[in-house]
Amino acid sequence: MEKRHVVCLGELLIDFIPETNGLPLCEVGAFRKAAGGAPANVAAAVARLGGKSRFIGKIGRDPFGDFLKRTLEDVGVEAALLESNEAKTGLAFVSLRSDGERDFLFFRDPAADMLLRAEEVREDWLADAAVYHFGSVSLISEPCRTATLEAARRARALGALVSYDPNVRLALWPSEDAAREEILRQMPLADVVKVSEEEIDFLLGEGLTTGAQHLLGLGPKVLVVTLGPRGCRVVTARQDVLVPGRPVEAVDTTGAGDGFVGGMLFQLASLGVTPAGIAEALGDAATAQRVFAFANRVGAITTTRRGAIPALPTFEEISAD
Ligand code: ADP
Repeated sequence: MEKRHVVCLGELLIDFIPETNGLPLCEVGAFRKAAGGAPANVAAAVARLGGKSRFIGKIGRDPFGDFLKRTLEDVGVEAALLESNEAKTGLAFVSLRSDGERDFLFFRDPAADMLLRAEEVREDWLADAAVYHFGSVSLISEPCRTATLEAARRARALGALVSYDPNVRLALWPSEDAAREEILRQMPLADVVKVSEEEIDFLLGEGLTTGAQHLLGLGPKVLVVTLGPRGCRVVTARQDVLVPGRPVEAVDTTGAGDGFVGGMLFQLASLGVTPAGIAEALGDAATAQRVFAFANRVGAITTTRRGAIPALPTFEEISAD
């Protein structure tokens, strides 16, 4: 079977964004709905670039679930969505207060995405995967934790490259220690891990260079550290390469990290990079430059427009750049 799909699994929810910035949630008068969930954004980024992607997750039998399905399909993602009879589609209200702090309110007690079960993930959803991608929000509670991990093991057994973006969202975890422990515990499952500099500090209390080697020691073959406008560092056991970004005028950084990951996975799937070959492929300076300059551009363009999925660029936009 031809393996070309980037298959993402995890949370899919509605983000309610205030119409006016700078207020605490209790003072916001009106909210606009937007599709949210990091793995879904990654699938959307790949599809927008012209790649084949699939998103596996669970929605409620409600109008918000219908909206999420339509949003994914409109951008070209194959929506492998189950519908829960037990819970509604998850909601998150997020406001950026004037002091720069984020105010969050989640309706996930539980939400449908948290109820995905391992046995519901169909074999044919994984069999054509060039890449399987997951994050850590779906590792917070059962049954979706086991669903996420089992699908990673099955996809790997079927030959897929496994990608992990912990994307730490502390407000959703029972404690910082629980987050740190579980996020680190799953590192050995992945071939390629993307983290930010702040996440390395949170996970290990170490700086980038020491922390990157420490994380690689847990099993991944490639660690990619995003550095905002400065681009990213690509670290393997043998190399540590900075791929500089080209700064842009950012208006909304929502989805930049997910766009970056989508750009990276689009490239890795297009190049046919395998778990056995990834360290060597990205050990080649020209290939690393090509893959990550592209991913940097996808991230950068995503920050120049509002929202996550609506801000994602096409392949033509990146090439014309
Ligand atoms: P995250 O912390 O979610 O990983 P970042 O803010 O580091 O996200 O952004 C991800 C990537 O997007 C960066 O590595 C970079 O390539 C690009 N990027 C983000 N902000 C900018 C910016 N202001 N100018 C240029 N590129 C940017």
